[in-house]
Amino acid sequence: MRREILRQLTNEYEERRRENDRIFFARRAEAEQKCPEIGRLMDARQELIFSSVRGIILGHQPDQVPEKMEKLTGQIRSLLVENGFPDDYLEPVYRCPLCKDTGYVGDPVREMCSCMQKELTRRLYAESGLGDQREQTYDTFRLDVFPDTVIPGLGYSQRQMMEMIRDMTKAWAEQWPDVRENCGVIFSGASGLGKTFLLHAMAGVMLDRGLNVMVLSSYRAQEIMRKAYFSRDGQDDLDLLMNTDVLFLDDLGTEPLLDNVTVSQFFNLFNERQNHQKACVISTNLSLKNLRERYTERIASRLLDSSRMMVVEMRGEDIRRNR
Ligand SMILES: [Zn+2]
Repeated sequence: MRREILRQLTNEYEERRRENDRIFFARRAEAEQKCPEIGRLMDARQELIFSSVRGIILGHQPDQVPEKMEKLTGQIRSLLVENGFPDDYLEPVYRCPLCKDTGYVGDPVREMCSCMQKELTRRLYAESGLGDQREQTYDTFRLDVFPDTVIPGLGYSQRQMMEMIRDMTKAWAEQWPDVRENCGVIFSGASGLGKTFLLHAMAGVMLDRGLNVMVLSSYRAQEIMRKAYFSRDGQDDLDLLMNTDVLFLDDLGTEPLLDNVTVSQFFNLFNERQNHQKACVISTNLSLKNLRERYTERIASRLLDSSRMMVVEMRGEDIRRNR
């Protein structure tokens, strides 16, 4: 995914530079038509640049080039103004002054310009399915929305629990696949406990690490699997679902159980991914008991195997209802 987007961006930057050239030459023709002297001065400036480059290659220091350049540029600028153009009308055309629309900066170490980096990140987020949820990050995760009173029978508060879960899942997202539970994370608990927020925060961390990430509801995942099962199209989407490094599956259990096909497709998905060392991060409103009942022991034993999955059971009050 990343490579494909980068290829597209590189093509767009090339096209932008061609467009910049077209604009520049159109401007030059326009100015020259009104005032032929401008054209002659532009040629003289170009010739000065060439001769100084030739001079450097041949090893002799060209004379007073900066002064000559400055003089020519000054003449061009005043002629432009005299003829009703802005004085910078014939300066090189580009949108980004840092990279001049090449997309890269730095010499000798070339690195991606911030303008391209920003666009790459935006597209990666959009492609991953995380586009609208970019603000749900570990930096914007607020502990103070969770009650700090001890949960009966547990000995700690919801806030303390969330702090622990925040730190554990963040470390997992930063370190995967070098973690013990390298098959994934499953959040279980009632709605309004912050499961989806954390899922999106984890996806953001992993996306920023350059991993291939896909975020979608289990309802949507089911649609993709059914479409590929019952017809020949939809295979590309299924491949993504199977092969993306980390699959973020929100709200497992809300998709309709249409027939046995649904359950066996989910089994296939989890099984294939685990066999290929790909991780799943799952949220579900189902309790662990209901998860076993709905998806059979075969699936549950894969998702709840605590030697390979981090099983996060969340307790407490619905914070959306409190607000
Ligand atoms: Zn740039």
